[in-house]
Amino acid sequence: MRDTRPAYPPEYDEPALCAVCGGDAEVGEGGCSCGECPRCGSVGDPGCYEHGLAPAHDSVASFLDHVGVEPLSDCLRAIDKHNAEHVWLVLRDGRRIYHHSDPEVLDGLPGWTRLEAVGVGGIAWDGSDWEWAREVPPGHGWLDLDAAREAFGEALDEHRGEEEEDGEPDDKTGKGEP
Ligand SMILES: [Zn+2]
Ligand SMILES: [Zn+2]
Repeated sequence: MRDTRPAYPPEYDEPALCAVCGGDAEVGEGGCSCGECPRCGSVGDPGCYEHGLAPAHDSVASFLDHVGVEPLSDCLRAIDKHNAEHVWLVLRDGRRIYHHSDPEVLDGLPGWTRLEAVGVGGIAWDGSDWEWAREVPPGHGWLDLDAAREAFGEALDEHRGEEEEDGEPDDKTGKGEP
């Protein structure tokens, strides 16, 4: 027998990536940053969120808690409906989830899902080509998200001010949706 392949399944040749955050479970700094389960002591086991482990500061659950609307499909739609800007989520696998994404995808994301970034953006709804978008770090009390939403509002105000100075005859404000 010259088969030198290891007898264990091939996935064990890959670094042990955390199932929650996608970080390398073997390394400390820069790797998995998930909390330890208070019941079983495991780290990075999605099942532990059933054991009373609190979702991370940058999780979907924390985001919903911060905005105060759930589930996620309602949350992102409510932000879009009541504000000039919309907010999207960037998952750690690079996928972007929007208010217009499939509700089954949105609400199928477990609350413990940790995010890579949150995005804020929108257009002026005035027929101009003005648009603004920014992606910022998630969590940490969602300070960056709130700051980005504020920055959007300020940029939009500034744009509208400039439009008025230009004496646009047909200046519309608001979203102009039916
Ligand atoms: Zn982890
Ligand atoms: Zn556990």
